[in-house]
Amino acid sequence: MPLKKLVAGNWKMHGVSSDIAEIQEIAAAAKDYSDIDVALCVPAILIERAARAVPGFSIGGQDVHHAEKGAHTGCTSAAMLHDAGASLTIVGHSERREAQRESDEEVKAKAEAALAVGLQVILCVGESLELREKGDAVPVVTEQLDGSLPAVESPAGLAIAYEPIWAIGTGKIPTVAEIAEMHETIRSRLRQRYGEAGGGVRILYGGSVKASNAAEIFAIRDVDGALVGGASLKAADFIPIVAAASGR
Ligand code: PEP
Repeated sequence: MPLKKLVAGNWKMHGVSSDIAEIQEIAAAAKDYSDIDVALCVPAILIERAARAVPGFSIGGQDVHHAEKGAHTGCTSAAMLHDAGASLTIVGHSERREAQRESDEEVKAKAEAALAVGLQVILCVGESLELREKGDAVPVVTEQLDGSLPAVESPAGLAIAYEPIWAIGTGKIPTVAEIAEMHETIRSRLRQRYGEAGGGVRILYGGSVKASNAAEIFAIRDVDGALVGGASLKAADFIPIVAAASGR
């Protein structure tokens, strides 16, 4: 049985009070696609206002600190995200792995902290263009995944996003064969790690997903949804991607 697809938007550092109307438009339109899980991961400071504005729609964070509380200036704990109304969070996005030098170990701890308070987790992995061109994409992503997967008995609530760094915000995407190979590899690692339950972990593709390429990407085996950056900012761009996930 195919898994229910998840289409999640990553608003990155975009969104102020006046953008709540766009979130409401997206949430209202998403109601027509009950066969798809739809979510928006917004800046931490917008979570509470967004969650109040769209009851019943999934609002998430884009990062979380691994510690429960303490002297971590400027950081947000999993309990804080949850308390603000988030139901999920991204961890290990390549922009954070690069700019904040987040290690696999740290990403793993973040995923564990988020799952522990009941947040769903979208854990990102992906290779650079240099590694792809060297032919090292599969071993490198496999190593990243192995180092970042949470040590939990059940992976319920966990999703993986395969996001080649060179495809993020560039308009370039891997070939169907390249996506299929990576998703199949990720699925097999998930089964090795979590047993049968690894078959139920959704594997999203992320990187320049748009209405024009979404249907082709969603048709690939083991693509259980998408993490969408730029095209998630406007309902007019995002909802056609949700429609494609639904086969419409
Ligand atoms: C992202 O940043 O997670 C992403 C996939 O961005 P974009 O869709 O803009 O490539």
